[in-house]
Amino acid sequence: MFENLSERLDRSFKLLKGEGKITEINVAETLKDVRKALLDADVNYKVAKQFTDTVKEKALGQNVLTSVKPSQLMVKIVHDELARLMGGTAIDVELKSSPAVILMSGLQGSGKTTFSGKLANMLKSKKGKNPLLVACDVYRPAAIEQLRVLGEQIGVPVYSEIDSKNPVQIALNAVKEARAKGHDLVIVDTAGRLAIDEQMMNEIAAIKKALNPDEILFVVDSMTGQDAVNTAKEFNERLDFNGVVLTKLDGDTRGGAALSIRSVVDKPIKFVGTGEKMDALDIFHPERMADRILG
Ligand code: GDP
Repeated sequence: MFENLSERLDRSFKLLKGEGKITEINVAETLKDVRKALLDADVNYKVAKQFTDTVKEKALGQNVLTSVKPSQLMVKIVHDELARLMGGTAIDVELKSSPAVILMSGLQGSGKTTFSGKLANMLKSKKGKNPLLVACDVYRPAAIEQLRVLGEQIGVPVYSEIDSKNPVQIALNAVKEARAKGHDLVIVDTAGRLAIDEQMMNEIAAIKKALNPDEILFVVDSMTGQDAVNTAKEFNERLDFNGVVLTKLDGDTRGGAALSIRSVVDKPIKFVGTGEKMDALDIFHPERMADRILG
């Protein structure tokens, strides 16, 4: 595995005599280590550069207490800045309408369908919601079947129209059905593609326009690392989503995508997926993610 940041900084500070302050000279080498640690954690390189510039400003001139090694002080500055950047308000989903509507967005394979099931399960068991899941993927019958199977597992009905080719109409019909059957929450799973394409973007933008959802969540695979930034940016430009869901954090990724996405689109990360099972869902904790990125 990678050498963690504390070890790296201990090494670079070892060369320095006991200075009372962090200075321009002793910080330069350290910042290289910080940047390297971020790149190892798959943080986007532009974001890593920006981040180290901020850390430099915060670190310069800080008094090193006799009880704290300069390397420890640097790790603390880096950690706190990471947590500050990834933190923020609006951690929970905002559900105002009746029924409330949550729309999923993201590439195929990012974990949208799995997360739709997990979220329905969480809001049902923890908030007493009565959700209806909606399968809006008109291209892959397997995706509809996948959602149906998940729905069965968690005891949540799934609305789908096997013969329809019109996702906007399916979504509208689903909301009607929810109203008629007394559901207070509609979770709409949409079609994704392996890469961003115009048709997919137009389709999800049309669903947004027709439904006016309470929340649009962007789901992204944390293993996609550097690429996650571009995907997040494009989806945000088209949809102006409310929050991010980072999936597959049970893998061996250090989760740098969290920092990259947060820095570039400035939307809160709300949930993290930690497995394939329906209960493998956590709300996002910036401090924990900072620890993970630093290793
Ligand atoms: P979609 O195409 O965006 O709907 O993605 P899916 O929900 O079908 O997920 C793609 C694959 O990733 C499936 O095999 C899921 O079981 C898996 N998956 C989704 N979320 C997680 C997660 O948090 N951890 C792990 N290990 N696998 C996940």
